Amino acid sequence: MTKTPQTVLVANRGEIALRIIRACRYLGLRVVCAHSEADRDAPYLKAADQSICVGPSAAGKSYLNIPALLAAAKTCGADMVHPGYGFLAESAEFADAVAAAGLQFIGPSGDVMRMMGDKVSAKRAMIASSVPCVPGPDSTLPEDPETIATIADEIGYPVIIKAAGGGGGRGMRVVESADDLIEAAMLTRQEAGRFFGQSDIYMEKFLGKPRHVEIQIIADSHGNAIWLGDRDCSMQRRHQKVVEEAPAPGIDRTLIAEIGERCAASCREIGYVGAGTFEFLYEDGQFFFIEMNTRVQVEHPVTEMVTGLDIVAMQIDVARGKALTLTQDDVHSTGHSIECRINAEDPTSFTPSAGTITSLHLPGGPGVRVDTHATAGMTISPFYDSMIGKVITYGKTRGEAIARARSALAEMQVEGVLTNIPLHRQIMDETEFCAGGVSIHHMEHWLKTRE
Ligand code: ADP
Repeated sequence: MTKTPQTVLVANRGEIALRIIRACRYLGLRVVCAHSEADRDAPYLKAADQSICVGPSAAGKSYLNIPALLAAAKTCGADMVHPGYGFLAESAEFADAVAAAGLQFIGPSGDVMRMMGDKVSAKRAMIASSVPCVPGPDSTLPEDPETIATIADEIGYPVIIKAAGGGGGRGMRVVESADDLIEAAMLTRQEAGRFFGQSDIYMEKFLGKPRHVEIQIIADSHGNAIWLGDRDCSMQRRHQKVVEEAPAPGIDRTLIAEIGERCAASCREIGYVGAGTFEFLYEDGQFFFIEMNTRVQVEHPVTEMVTGLDIVAMQIDVARGKALTLTQDDVHSTGHSIECRINAEDPTSFTPSAGTITSLHLPGGPGVRVDTHATAGMTISPFYDSMIGKVITYGKTRGEAIARARSALAEMQVEGVLTNIPLHRQIMDETEFCAGGVSIHHMEHWLKTRE
């Protein structure tokens, strides 16, 4: 008797939904993709075995609607739920609800997500596992102005005040001197309460010109955890990543390996299961932990390109109880990979551009991978994120990866909506990006100075 294949419900949309569908098919699993009314006719749904409507176009009523997603999982006979990124991917409540319904959430437990979702408790866990953190206390700030001032003096200005429950680059404030400290603390506390439902704030040293460097990890439910390399995501605009690459250029590999090992050890200590990313600021040869993402990230393909691994398939395998088949010694990174996030937006003003894609030509050739759900005739809905895909290139060297990105971006044509492809073409020719190792402020600075 043949065993019924397990079924995965994809609780997401767009390019990541298609990426998950591909991994499920590769693993021989049945896959059902949830969709909203706006996405009803999206062609990527046909790649799944089944698709199921979970509600109206507004994400709050569909992709963020826990009861509707659980009902869909039940209707289609799902055993597992993949949350993708964004939407409910880092909702401990969703992870708990999936588990309570007797299904497997593809990600860590709700408790681990809760610990990592609170930046103060995450920092405390990292300090306990000897992962280096930004200087500053591993506790929330008290109300008392004098104590706040003493903490800032001990850290040394400039400092940054952040919401413990913050995310998406919101709820933080840089303070240059004692004059502005108390008001900044008060405003950040108010914002934290308003945006994140809890008013806890904390303080740490503000680093002047750091790079954003992160470590990809994967851990199984048998106590094994390995790190799969590093990525540099310093090319950001308004704290949103625009270009990512692997590995991070110009950083001592021994130091990266040391940090990678600590991240993997930390996963073993906290009982982490799944794929995850430890995000660091890197400055003057030192790493400082800022936060952990408990999900697959947009930029995971650059790691896949240099390691030859399928992170989403590994993520599904560890969620269904399989042990990792690789040890740390089996993970090798060769060459270089670059990812350009393609957004449907005005390349100058950055305002989202909704509409119908009238014609689409995707690039190809050696070392070029395009992860997208976009097709000609598809309508880009104003309801969701403007990212319509990713152009990922590989080269034996960083220069070769950039050369392939240039040629891929020159070839790619999207008509009907505006995209940031012209911006990416400029970035691939920009002197400092091409030299490698820019800080997180470089892109905004360059945007201001370019003609
Ligand atoms: P979020 O969860 O909102 O993305 P993070 O803690 O990851 O918040 O920080 C987002 C960005 O803010 C970082 O990528 C970095 O650009 C900046 N940042 C955060 N903490 C610091 C710090 N201590 N010093 C300098 N920049 C910081």
